[in-house]
Amino acid sequence: MKNISILGSTGSIGTNALTIVERFPDRFSVVALAAKSRIDLLARQIEQYRPDVAVVYTESLAKELKQRLPAGIPVRILHGEEGYRAAATHGAADIVLTAMVGAAGLQPTLDAISAGKDIALANKETLVMAGELVMKAAKDSGVNIYPVDSEHSAIFQCLAGNRRQDMERILLTGSGGPFRKWPKKRFQEITVEDALNHPNWSMGRKITIDSSTMMNKGLEVIEASWLFGVATDRIQVVIHPRSIVHSMVAFKDGSVIAQLGVPDMKGAIAYALSCPERLDIGMPAPDFPDIGALEFGAPDFEKFPCLAMAFDACQTGHSLPAVLNASNEIAVAAFLDRQIPYAGIPETVRRTMEKHVLIKDPSLDDLFATDMWARRTAEEEIKTLSG
Ligand code: NAD
Ligand code: MG
Repeated sequence: MKNISILGSTGSIGTNALTIVERFPDRFSVVALAAKSRIDLLARQIEQYRPDVAVVYTESLAKELKQRLPAGIPVRILHGEEGYRAAATHGAADIVLTAMVGAAGLQPTLDAISAGKDIALANKETLVMAGELVMKAAKDSGVNIYPVDSEHSAIFQCLAGNRRQDMERILLTGSGGPFRKWPKKRFQEITVEDALNHPNWSMGRKITIDSSTMMNKGLEVIEASWLFGVATDRIQVVIHPRSIVHSMVAFKDGSVIAQLGVPDMKGAIAYALSCPERLDIGMPAPDFPDIGALEFGAPDFEKFPCLAMAFDACQTGHSLPAVLNASNEIAVAAFLDRQIPYAGIPETVRRTMEKHVLIKDPSLDDLFATDMWARRTAEEEIKTLSG
């Protein structure tokens, strides 16, 4: 039996993970569930999966959750930072699935690593903000970080059985998002609804917007560089609109190994929770005669400046990726709130990055301070953009 703690249980990744737990009740057990505010769903999850601990964002939400639950369910309900720490470090947890959204995922992931827990990492922002410190902490604690992001799961699978030193390049695939074929001059018309309409994947709102700007692919470049110890110039983004090839690795001898599957996150989540074993999760392999051709292309850095800025941040390193990440979170929230137009997202990130004075070899405190500074700066830029 593997005991799992799920951070972000009410989100897209969290709910998909729970369907896997449901399918394999004698293999997985849930010891902790943490979410922000969707207490109706969390209450149903508690009734079904019977965790020892459940966590929400605030004390008042915790009270409300208690009232929602039928009497006699033995669960400790906690809230806030302390609560998330308790879920991340739960004594009985074997693995912690980090599926919160945004920079909020960093501290609980570090807490889980310090407590010696293996990590199934969905929260890519963790590695974007503090990749060096997180990878070092994992090494020092001897814990494994299993990627949940489908591209990184694919790369991890392509590398299995191969020597890292034989890897020449990572070929990170991306669909190109809903605006791949839109001319740049039409970008000013893009609405929140257009941007939330991803062609292949059903995901949370923030990552869906990130996919449309290609910031998501940029964050994934940074994530891949830390997970696999590869410099930016050895990561190539390849546009692949159907999302059947989940990513590839090119080796010294010119061979390329790819991992393929239908675009459904359950495959990558299940593999992170059970590898090297592969579970029968009821997912068919792609139907190749039906698919016909697989198309590939190059990304358009001019049309998608977020991707270019993420490459820059990855190359520069130090505190800059944390600035990219925080300003993007603020800009995406402002776009979803209809405060700024679509083009305001890259513009906010660009202006914030330009104002940043780089901190070399940042400590964790430096990174949290940088994150705060970038949020404030981005908010000020948004005022000038929307005013
Ligand atoms: P989502 O918005 O659907 O869910 C986010 C979850 O985190 C919810 O349970 C929410 O309650 C919780 N949460 C949000 N803010 C929080 C906070 N401040 N403190 C505590 N909990 C908080 O997001 P998602 O699509 O499931 O994505 C989760 C993470 O996984 C993101 O980092 C995303 O980049 C990554 N990811 C998602 C997918 C996908 O297919 N959805 C694929 C690859 C990677
Ligand atoms: Mg991905």
